[in-house]
Amino acid sequence: MNKIQFDIKQLVRKNILNLKAYSSARDEFTDFDAKMIFLDANENPYENGVNRYPDPQQKNLKAVLAKQKNISEKNILLGNGSDEVLDLIYRAFCEPGEDNIITLPPTYGMYTVLANINNIEEQQVQLDKDFQPDVEEIFRKVNMNSKVVFICSPNNPSGNLIEQDRIQQILKRFNGVVVIDEAYIDFTDKKSWISAIKEHPNLIVTQTLSKAYGLAGIRLGICYASEEIISVLNKIKPPYNVNELTQQRALQRTLEEDKVKNEVKSIIEERAKLQEALSTISFVEKIFFSDANFILARVDDANKRYDQLINMGIVVRNRSTQALCENTLRFTVGTTEENKILIEALKQL
Ligand SMILES: *Cc1c(COP(=O)(O)O)cnc(C)c1O
Repeated sequence: MNKIQFDIKQLVRKNILNLKAYSSARDEFTDFDAKMIFLDANENPYENGVNRYPDPQQKNLKAVLAKQKNISEKNILLGNGSDEVLDLIYRAFCEPGEDNIITLPPTYGMYTVLANINNIEEQQVQLDKDFQPDVEEIFRKVNMNSKVVFICSPNNPSGNLIEQDRIQQILKRFNGVVVIDEAYIDFTDKKSWISAIKEHPNLIVTQTLSKAYGLAGIRLGICYASEEIISVLNKIKPPYNVNELTQQRALQRTLEEDKVKNEVKSIIEERAKLQEALSTISFVEKIFFSDANFILARVDDANKRYDQLINMGIVVRNRSTQALCENTLRFTVGTTEENKILIEALKQL
Protein backbone atom coordinates (compact mmCIF):
# COMPACT_ATOMS: atom_id res chain seq x y z
CA MET A 1 0.00 0.00 0.00
CA ASN A 2 1.35 3.43 -0.93
CA LYS A 3 2.20 5.66 1.96
CA ILE A 4 0.58 9.04 1.49
CA GLN A 5 2.64 12.10 0.86
CA PHE A 6 0.79 14.74 2.75
CA ASP A 7 2.11 18.23 2.33
CA ILE A 8 -0.39 20.84 3.35
CA LYS A 9 1.42 23.56 1.37
CA GLN A 10 0.85 21.54 -1.80
CA LEU A 11 -2.76 20.93 -0.97
CA VAL A 12 -4.03 24.34 0.11
CA ARG A 13 -5.12 26.71 -2.67
CA LYS A 14 -2.37 29.22 -3.50
CA ASN A 15 -4.49 32.29 -2.74
CA ILE A 16 -5.36 30.86 0.68
CA LEU A 17 -1.76 29.94 1.44
CA ASN A 18 -0.71 33.52 0.71
CA LEU A 19 -3.70 35.12 2.37
CA LYS A 20 -3.27 37.60 5.17
CA ALA A 21 -6.24 37.05 7.47
CA TYR A 22 -8.37 39.96 8.66
CA SER A 23 -7.28 41.00 12.11
CA SER A 24 -10.23 42.08 14.21
CA ALA A 25 -10.12 44.24 17.32
CA ARG A 26 -10.76 41.12 19.37
CA ASP A 27 -7.80 39.40 17.71
CA GLU A 28 -5.42 42.17 18.70
CA PHE A 29 -6.32 42.62 22.34
CA THR A 30 -7.40 39.13 23.25
CA ASP A 31 -7.98 39.22 26.99
CA PHE A 32 -11.47 40.61 26.79
CA ASP A 33 -12.56 39.13 30.08
CA ALA A 34 -10.07 41.60 31.62
CA LYS A 35 -11.39 44.64 33.48
CA MET A 36 -10.45 47.12 30.79
CA ILE A 37 -12.19 49.99 29.10
CA PHE A 38 -12.84 48.70 25.60
CA LEU A 39 -12.73 51.49 23.07
CA ASP A 40 -11.29 49.44 20.23
CA ALA A 41 -14.19 47.96 18.30
CA ASN A 42 -16.71 50.77 17.81
CA GLU A 43 -19.30 48.95 19.87
CA ASN A 44 -22.16 50.60 21.72
CA PRO A 45 -20.82 50.87 25.30
CA TYR A 46 -24.18 50.40 27.07
CA GLU A 47 -24.31 46.85 28.39
CA ASN A 48 -27.19 44.60 27.33
CA GLY A 49 -25.44 41.24 27.37
CA VAL A 50 -24.59 41.17 23.67
CA ASN A 51 -23.36 44.67 22.85
CA ARG A 52 -19.78 43.38 22.56
CA TYR A 53 -18.39 41.35 19.67
CA PRO A 54 -18.07 37.66 20.56
CA ASP A 55 -14.76 35.86 21.10
CA PRO A 56 -13.52 35.06 17.56
CA GLN A 57 -11.65 32.02 18.92
CA GLN A 58 -14.42 30.81 21.29
CA LYS A 59 -11.81 30.02 23.94
CA ASN A 60 -14.15 29.00 26.76
CA LEU A 61 -16.14 26.59 24.63
CA LYS A 62 -13.04 25.11 23.02
CA ALA A 63 -11.52 24.54 26.46
CA VAL A 64 -14.51 22.40 27.48
CA LEU A 65 -14.54 20.45 24.20
CA ALA A 66 -10.77 19.94 24.32
CA LYS A 67 -11.02 18.45 27.79
CA GLN A 68 -13.99 16.22 26.94
CA LYS A 69 -12.48 14.94 23.69
CA ASN A 70 -8.97 14.68 25.05
CA ILE A 71 -7.38 16.84 22.36
CA SER A 72 -5.70 20.24 22.26
CA GLU A 73 -7.69 23.42 21.62
CA LYS A 74 -5.34 24.00 18.72
CA ASN A 75 -6.92 21.00 17.00
CA ILE A 76 -10.40 22.53 17.12
CA LEU A 77 -12.24 24.96 14.85
CA LEU A 78 -15.86 25.96 15.47
CA GLY A 79 -18.35 27.07 12.88
CA ASN A 80 -21.88 28.25 12.25
CA GLY A 81 -23.09 24.64 12.01
CA SER A 82 -21.16 21.82 10.32
CA ASP A 83 -22.34 23.34 7.09
CA GLU A 84 -19.99 26.28 7.55
CA VAL A 85 -17.15 23.98 8.56
CA LEU A 86 -17.66 21.89 5.41
CA ASP A 87 -17.79 25.01 3.27
CA LEU A 88 -14.49 26.22 4.75
CA ILE A 89 -12.91 22.90 3.79
CA TYR A 90 -13.98 23.37 0.17
CA ARG A 91 -12.69 26.91 0.10
CA ALA A 92 -9.36 25.97 1.64
CA PHE A 93 -8.50 22.99 -0.53
CA CYS A 94 -10.50 23.03 -3.77
CA GLU A 95 -9.73 25.30 -6.70
CA PRO A 96 -13.04 26.19 -8.45
CA GLY A 97 -13.33 24.82 -11.96
CA GLU A 98 -10.25 22.64 -11.50
CA ASP A 99 -10.41 20.34 -8.51
CA ASN A 100 -12.80 17.58 -7.58
CA ILE A 101 -14.08 15.90 -4.45
CA ILE A 102 -15.29 12.34 -3.85
CA THR A 103 -18.64 11.55 -2.25
CA LEU A 104 -20.09 8.16 -1.37
CA PRO A 105 -23.84 8.18 -2.04
CA PRO A 106 -26.35 7.66 -0.62
CA THR A 107 -25.11 10.24 1.84
CA TYR A 108 -25.63 13.71 3.29
CA GLY A 109 -26.86 16.10 0.59
CA MET A 110 -24.84 19.14 1.68
CA TYR A 111 -21.59 17.76 0.23
CA THR A 112 -23.12 18.02 -3.24
CA VAL A 113 -24.74 21.40 -2.66
CA LEU A 114 -21.47 22.86 -1.37
CA ALA A 115 -19.57 21.37 -4.32
CA ASN A 116 -22.01 23.08 -6.68
CA ILE A 117 -21.84 26.41 -4.84
CA ASN A 118 -18.04 26.34 -4.96
CA ASN A 119 -17.94 25.12 -8.57
CA ILE A 120 -16.10 21.95 -7.63
CA GLU A 121 -16.64 18.76 -9.59
CA GLU A 122 -18.15 15.92 -7.58
CA GLN A 123 -17.13 12.35 -8.29
CA GLN A 124 -19.65 9.93 -6.88
CA VAL A 125 -18.65 6.43 -5.85
CA GLN A 126 -21.76 4.61 -4.74
CA LEU A 127 -21.67 2.62 -1.51
CA ASP A 128 -22.15 -1.14 -1.87
CA LYS A 129 -25.33 -3.02 -0.92
CA ASP A 130 -24.31 -2.96 2.74
CA PHE A 131 -23.72 0.78 2.50
CA GLN A 132 -19.95 0.35 2.76
CA PRO A 133 -17.43 2.14 0.51
CA ASP A 134 -15.86 0.36 -2.44
CA VAL A 135 -12.25 1.32 -1.77
CA GLU A 136 -10.87 0.09 -5.10
CA GLU A 137 -13.51 2.00 -7.03
CA ILE A 138 -12.70 5.17 -5.06
CA PHE A 139 -9.05 4.93 -6.07
CA ARG A 140 -9.97 4.28 -9.69
CA LYS A 141 -11.78 7.64 -9.64
CA VAL A 142 -9.09 9.56 -7.73
CA ASN A 143 -6.83 11.76 -9.86
CA MET A 144 -4.34 14.57 -9.26
CA ASN A 145 -7.15 17.06 -8.72
CA SER A 146 -9.03 15.01 -6.14
CA LYS A 147 -8.70 17.00 -2.94
CA VAL A 148 -11.30 15.71 -0.49
CA VAL A 149 -13.14 12.45 0.25
CA PHE A 150 -16.29 12.85 2.36
CA ILE A 151 -17.14 9.87 4.56
CA CYS A 152 -20.25 10.09 6.73
CA SER A 153 -20.14 7.67 9.67
CA PRO A 154 -22.69 6.79 10.95
CA ASN A 155 -24.02 7.49 7.48
CA ASN A 156 -27.08 9.59 6.77
CA PRO A 157 -29.56 8.29 5.49
CA SER A 158 -28.62 4.62 5.95
CA GLY A 159 -27.69 4.88 9.64
CA ASN A 160 -24.74 2.46 9.60
CA LEU A 161 -21.16 3.03 10.65
CA ILE A 162 -18.50 2.82 7.96
CA GLU A 163 -16.12 -0.07 8.66
CA GLN A 164 -12.97 0.99 10.44
CA ASP A 165 -10.74 -1.02 8.15
CA ARG A 166 -12.06 0.65 4.99
CA ILE A 167 -11.62 4.12 6.45
CA GLN A 168 -8.10 3.16 7.44
CA GLN A 169 -7.34 2.11 3.86
CA ILE A 170 -8.66 5.38 2.47
CA LEU A 171 -6.68 7.41 5.02
CA LYS A 172 -3.50 5.57 4.13
CA ARG A 173 -3.84 5.85 0.38
CA PHE A 174 -5.43 9.23 -0.30
CA ASN A 175 -3.12 12.19 -0.83
CA GLY A 176 -5.85 14.74 -0.19
CA VAL A 177 -7.98 15.38 2.87
CA VAL A 178 -10.32 12.75 4.31
CA VAL A 179 -13.35 14.23 6.07
CA ILE A 180 -15.21 11.93 8.46
CA ASP A 181 -18.56 13.48 9.29
CA GLU A 182 -19.52 12.22 12.74
CA ALA A 183 -22.77 14.12 13.19
CA TYR A 184 -24.32 10.96 14.72
CA ILE A 185 -21.32 9.56 16.59
CA ASP A 186 -22.95 9.98 20.02
CA PHE A 187 -25.61 7.40 19.16
CA THR A 188 -23.14 4.54 18.76
CA ASP A 189 -20.81 2.86 21.23
CA LYS A 190 -18.01 2.78 18.65
CA LYS A 191 -15.34 5.35 19.18
CA SER A 192 -14.76 8.58 17.31
CA TRP A 193 -11.91 9.04 14.83
CA ILE A 194 -10.72 12.10 16.76
CA SER A 195 -8.04 10.04 18.46
CA ALA A 196 -6.58 9.10 15.05
CA ILE A 197 -5.78 12.72 14.11
CA LYS A 198 -2.25 12.44 15.51
CA GLU A 199 -1.47 9.51 13.20
CA HIS A 200 -3.18 10.89 10.12
CA PRO A 201 -2.25 14.45 9.08
CA ASN A 202 -4.86 14.28 6.29
CA LEU A 203 -7.80 13.53 8.60
CA ILE A 204 -10.58 15.99 9.46
CA VAL A 205 -13.35 14.91 11.83
CA THR A 206 -16.53 16.98 11.98
CA GLN A 207 -19.14 16.85 14.70
CA THR A 208 -22.10 19.03 15.61
CA LEU A 209 -24.27 20.09 18.54
CA SER A 210 -27.34 19.76 16.27
CA LYS A 211 -28.19 16.12 16.96
CA ALA A 212 -27.28 14.42 20.26
CA TYR A 213 -26.77 17.72 22.07
CA GLY A 214 -30.19 18.97 21.06
CA LEU A 215 -29.01 22.37 19.86
CA ALA A 216 -29.89 22.42 16.16
CA GLY A 217 -31.30 25.91 16.63
CA ILE A 218 -28.10 27.58 17.75
CA ARG A 219 -25.91 26.37 14.83
CA LEU A 220 -22.65 25.05 16.22
CA GLY A 221 -20.45 22.77 14.16
CA ILE A 222 -17.08 21.42 15.26
CA CYS A 223 -14.01 20.50 13.26
CA TYR A 224 -11.11 18.46 14.69
CA ALA A 225 -7.88 18.20 12.70
CA SER A 226 -4.13 18.73 12.80
CA GLU A 227 -2.90 22.14 13.94
CA GLU A 228 -1.79 22.84 10.38
CA ILE A 229 -5.23 22.24 8.91
CA ILE A 230 -6.97 24.16 11.71
CA SER A 231 -4.75 27.18 11.21
CA VAL A 232 -5.57 27.28 7.50
CA LEU A 233 -9.32 27.08 8.19
CA ASN A 234 -8.94 29.72 10.91
CA LYS A 235 -7.45 32.11 8.40
CA ILE A 236 -10.47 31.99 6.13
CA LYS A 237 -13.37 31.76 8.56
CA PRO A 238 -15.38 34.95 9.07
CA PRO A 239 -13.90 36.59 12.20
CA TYR A 240 -17.07 36.41 14.31
CA ASN A 241 -18.61 33.28 12.81
CA VAL A 242 -19.97 31.90 16.11
CA ASN A 243 -22.20 34.46 17.77
CA GLU A 244 -22.26 35.24 21.49
CA LEU A 245 -25.63 33.64 22.23
CA THR A 246 -24.53 30.42 20.53
CA GLN A 247 -21.27 30.37 22.47
CA GLN A 248 -23.12 30.82 25.75
CA ARG A 249 -25.73 28.12 25.11
CA ALA A 250 -23.16 25.70 23.74
CA LEU A 251 -20.95 26.18 26.78
CA GLN A 252 -23.85 25.67 29.16
CA ARG A 253 -24.96 22.51 27.36
CA THR A 254 -21.57 20.88 26.94
CA LEU A 255 -21.06 21.31 30.69
CA GLU A 256 -24.27 19.32 31.29
CA GLU A 257 -22.63 16.14 30.04
CA ASP A 258 -24.76 13.81 32.19
CA LYS A 259 -28.01 15.32 31.00
CA VAL A 260 -26.96 14.92 27.36
CA LYS A 261 -25.84 11.33 27.99
CA ASN A 262 -29.18 10.48 29.59
CA GLU A 263 -31.13 11.86 26.66
CA VAL A 264 -28.93 9.97 24.22
CA LYS A 265 -29.44 6.79 26.25
CA SER A 266 -33.23 7.22 26.05
CA ILE A 267 -33.05 7.86 22.33
CA ILE A 268 -31.04 4.67 21.84
CA GLU A 269 -33.58 2.70 23.90
CA GLU A 270 -36.41 4.21 21.90
CA ARG A 271 -34.58 3.34 18.68
CA ALA A 272 -34.55 -0.32 19.68
CA LYS A 273 -38.27 -0.22 20.48
CA LEU A 274 -39.06 1.53 17.22
CA GLN A 275 -36.98 -0.98 15.29
CA GLU A 276 -38.90 -3.82 16.93
CA ALA A 277 -42.26 -2.19 16.29
CA LEU A 278 -41.48 -1.42 12.65
CA SER A 279 -40.74 -5.10 12.07
CA THR A 280 -44.37 -5.91 12.90
CA ILE A 281 -45.77 -3.55 10.25
CA SER A 282 -46.99 -5.53 7.26
CA PHE A 283 -45.86 -3.12 4.54
CA VAL A 284 -42.37 -2.61 6.00
CA GLU A 285 -40.11 -4.80 3.91
CA LYS A 286 -36.71 -4.10 5.36
CA ILE A 287 -35.30 -2.21 8.32
CA PHE A 288 -31.70 -1.10 8.10
CA PHE A 289 -29.60 -1.41 11.24
CA SER A 290 -28.96 2.01 12.72
CA ASP A 291 -26.15 3.47 14.78
CA ALA A 292 -27.79 6.90 14.57
CA ASN A 293 -30.96 8.59 15.91
CA PHE A 294 -33.04 7.57 12.91
CA ILE A 295 -34.08 4.38 11.17
CA LEU A 296 -34.22 3.85 7.43
CA ALA A 297 -36.85 1.35 6.33
CA ARG A 298 -37.95 0.02 2.97
CA VAL A 299 -41.71 -0.03 2.47
CA ASP A 300 -44.04 -1.22 -0.29
CA ASP A 301 -44.75 2.27 -1.66
CA ALA A 302 -42.86 5.13 -0.03
CA ASN A 303 -44.76 7.97 -1.73
CA LYS A 304 -48.10 6.55 -0.69
CA ARG A 305 -47.05 5.84 2.90
CA TYR A 306 -45.42 9.25 3.18
CA ASP A 307 -48.64 10.98 2.11
CA GLN A 308 -50.75 8.83 4.43
CA LEU A 309 -48.55 9.74 7.38
CA ILE A 310 -48.72 13.44 6.48
CA ASN A 311 -52.50 13.19 6.56
CA MET A 312 -52.22 11.74 10.06
CA GLY A 313 -50.03 14.64 11.18
CA ILE A 314 -46.69 12.85 11.06
CA VAL A 315 -43.79 14.05 8.93
CA VAL A 316 -41.07 11.55 8.06
CA ARG A 317 -38.41 11.80 5.36
CA ASN A 318 -38.92 10.10 2.02
CA ARG A 319 -35.44 9.08 0.84
CA SER A 320 -36.59 7.21 -2.27
CA THR A 321 -34.74 9.41 -4.73
CA GLN A 322 -31.37 8.54 -3.18
CA ALA A 323 -29.12 5.84 -4.61
CA LEU A 324 -29.91 2.38 -3.16
CA CYS A 325 -32.86 3.85 -1.27
CA GLU A 326 -35.83 3.10 -3.53
CA ASN A 327 -39.04 3.09 -1.49
CA THR A 328 -37.42 4.05 1.76
CA LEU A 329 -38.60 6.28 4.55
CA ARG A 330 -36.34 7.69 7.24
CA PHE A 331 -37.84 7.89 10.71
CA THR A 332 -36.18 10.14 13.27
CA VAL A 333 -36.46 8.65 16.75
CA GLY A 334 -38.79 10.90 18.74
CA THR A 335 -39.98 10.86 22.34
CA THR A 336 -41.64 7.70 23.72
CA GLU A 337 -45.01 9.35 23.18
CA GLU A 338 -44.26 10.43 19.61
CA ASN A 339 -42.95 6.99 18.66
CA LYS A 340 -46.11 5.36 20.08
CA ILE A 341 -48.27 7.63 17.95
CA LEU A 342 -46.14 6.83 14.90
CA ILE A 343 -46.47 3.07 15.45
CA GLU A 344 -50.22 3.31 16.04
CA ALA A 345 -50.55 5.29 12.82
CA LEU A 346 -48.51 2.76 10.85
CA LYS A 347 -50.59 -0.09 12.23
CA GLN A 348 -53.77 1.60 11.08
CA LEU A 349 -52.60 1.95 7.48
C1 LIG B 1 -27.54 16.78 10.53
C2 LIG B 1 -26.21 16.57 9.91
C3 LIG B 1 -25.18 17.50 10.10
C4 LIG B 1 -25.42 18.70 10.96
O1 LIG B 1 -25.18 19.87 10.33
P1 LIG B 1 -25.24 21.21 11.17
O2 LIG B 1 -24.95 22.23 10.12
O3 LIG B 1 -24.14 21.11 12.20
O4 LIG B 1 -26.58 21.30 11.80
C5 LIG B 1 -23.96 17.25 9.55
N1 LIG B 1 -23.72 16.13 8.84
C6 LIG B 1 -24.67 15.22 8.67
C7 LIG B 1 -24.38 13.99 7.92
C8 LIG B 1 -25.95 15.42 9.17
O5 LIG B 1 -26.91 14.51 8.96
